[in-house]
Amino acid sequence: MNEFEIIQRYFLSTRQDDQVILGIGDDAAILRCPPSGYDLVVSMDTLVAGVHFLATTPADDIGYKALAVNLSDIAAMGATPKWFTLSLTMPSFDDTWLQLFTHGLNTLATEYNLTLIGGDLCRGQLSITIQAHGLVPCGESLTRSGAQLGDSIYITGCLGGAALACHHHQLAHKEDILKLHRPQPQIAMGCYLRPYANSCIDISDGLSSDLKHLLNASKLGAHIDLRSLAMAPSLASLAVEQAYDFALSGGDDYELCFSSAHHDLASQKPPFPITKIGTINSSTELIFTDAEGKHYIPKQGWQHF
Ligand code: ADP
Ligand code: MG
Repeated sequence: MNEFEIIQRYFLSTRQDDQVILGIGDDAAILRCPPSGYDLVVSMDTLVAGVHFLATTPADDIGYKALAVNLSDIAAMGATPKWFTLSLTMPSFDDTWLQLFTHGLNTLATEYNLTLIGGDLCRGQLSITIQAHGLVPCGESLTRSGAQLGDSIYITGCLGGAALACHHHQLAHKEDILKLHRPQPQIAMGCYLRPYANSCIDISDGLSSDLKHLLNASKLGAHIDLRSLAMAPSLASLAVEQAYDFALSGGDDYELCFSSAHHDLASQKPPFPITKIGTINSSTELIFTDAEGKHYIPKQGWQHF
């Protein structure tokens, strides 16, 4: 199969979308957007075999996760995803692999009614780059830089399960393995948070490093009480410091961390469970304290360079 036949067979979408004037097939796609009253939100993420996933990972999980991690960024901005482009580099043509890959990708694309509007195809080491496009009412997007002194800090869901599944498959529960391969982008939660949150980030490299990004952007500090940290149930079988390291530095959680001037948001029945874990302060430092009230210094989170 040549490139054009591969695109026709695996990637051509029949989804109707009034704003897509021209989709796959020309030199570029044309979108009539954003509609009046909306801002366009754009994110891009790459997954590389051997870095972000093992080459032996089932192809449907790779397809699913490649889109999920991009949608997680769109969620963190409080936006609704609409379209995406896909740049796929693969070592050879493999029908079974491509069918599985597109099946995983389409599972999530269908769930959120997304249209694949273009991309690129190359031969080389397996790598997937997706650019996602979303819409948010003008001026209402959530950013890292909006935290205010005295805000409460919250996380969605619980942390550390995916990292445990990645490093110690045998200790992980079924839901951790699912979380590692099929993270659920927090789209509904991001939209819900627009009127409540002052700042927001998605947790991809681990709470410790991602919250630091939020604090640096907001030029503020924070105190996190580890007694209130929501950790994956499977971490209970580990020594407490090991559990903290998975939950704070493990990465791959794809939950949201946000700050809000509302101090009891959990009682307002958000669409997904949230936990208050700390407070924004004026220190410009991120301090974690453990059950004895002692400072806890987490392991360094994931860094490429
Ligand atoms: P060009 O050589 O002009 O860049 P291509 O041959 O790369 O064009 O692409 C032809 C069309 O197919 C374009 O509309 C492009 O966006 C689309 N396309 C290429 N690769 C993919 C892919 N992996 N997924 C979806 N669309 C793709
Ligand atoms: Mg091209």
